[in-house]
Amino acid sequence: MTKRALCLLATAAALLCFAALFVLRSGGGAEPAVSENFRLGTFVRLSLYGCGNADEELAKGDELIKSLENLFSVNIPTSDIARLNAAGGAWTRIDARTAELLEASLALAELTGGAFSPALGGVTALWRIGTPEARVPSDGEIAEALKYTDYSKIELRVEDGAHFARLPRGMRLDLGAIAKGCVADALKSRFAADGVRRAMIDLGGNLDFVGESPRGGPWRAGLQQPERPRGEYFGIIEAEDVSVVTSGPYERYFEKDGVRYHHIIDPATGRPARSGLSSVTVIDANSARADALCTALFVMGSRRAPEFLARRGDVRAVLVTDDKRVLITPSAEKIFRLTDESLALSVIGAGE
Ligand code: AMP
Ligand code: MG
Repeated sequence: MTKRALCLLATAAALLCFAALFVLRSGGGAEPAVSENFRLGTFVRLSLYGCGNADEELAKGDELIKSLENLFSVNIPTSDIARLNAAGGAWTRIDARTAELLEASLALAELTGGAFSPALGGVTALWRIGTPEARVPSDGEIAEALKYTDYSKIELRVEDGAHFARLPRGMRLDLGAIAKGCVADALKSRFAADGVRRAMIDLGGNLDFVGESPRGGPWRAGLQQPERPRGEYFGIIEAEDVSVVTSGPYERYFEKDGVRYHHIIDPATGRPARSGLSSVTVIDANSARADALCTALFVMGSRRAPEFLARRGDVRAVLVTDDKRVLITPSAEKIFRLTDESLALSVIGAGE
């Protein structure tokens, strides 16, 4: 392993990130042109196959990621999101791409009944999970922060082609549950426009497959076995031209006095969701939607997520419950294969 790769790995490990998905290779096919960078708070790898001007495409891809990170990151003070958070309730001019992300976020918050919420920034800033300053906030702090999480009060407008947004005073955005998906979608559009026909985009375990796999036919993604060493998987997704996104409590967490606090917050309580699920995977053509739905399904938990999925019918998902059951939607049946036979598999809606 190169020094650079080691350094990237060390940074990722320091953040307690844990990729929940990984590509399974089975030999054959051409070697890809690859770029690896630490972006969006995670380890990012772009792999292009059979691309004539790969170096140029990889450089353009990385520039695109950096430009979107500069708009969306809460940690970059000049980003659109940081400026909105600091605007004290004033209208703020934002980039069209930020407006698009906010619109998508609001639609997904609506769709999931608020289980995915873009307005949890005040709450996640108290917990700081995934940073060395992670802590358990007091009940009072959480109650106070929850007062400013009503995403329906976020306003957007367009004037002479310029985009503006306004948050209620005190509200703070956190788009960590959808931004990587949005960046992946932007990369896919760029690659499609430039004629890249086969590629794999790995944004810290959010996987996107462009076209067919290098061997021809579907790509294969291993779904991380919750609570097991990295790389052990319980099942495989085989698909092409899709995003595969996983959310799980084991990805980012800290422990205090023997209690584990993970990074997916229930907007109803302001605390790590008591989900009954140990992993959620969503497979969708749109990566932002897969990303947000995944987080939302985790929050809905082992009782409400299957009800939501049965009602909607159009979401391809694989859930693992704390009591070691694997629940899949009928639409995921064709692309999912269980490899750990100690887990009980059932199809949501079947036999009811
Ligand atoms: P993901 O890894 O995609 O499930 O996203 C988790 C990240 O999104 C967290 O680290 C928080 O920054 C943020 N987040 C946590 N809970 C929620 C939630 N219920 N809705 C939206 N964003 C959330
Ligand atoms: Mg997500």
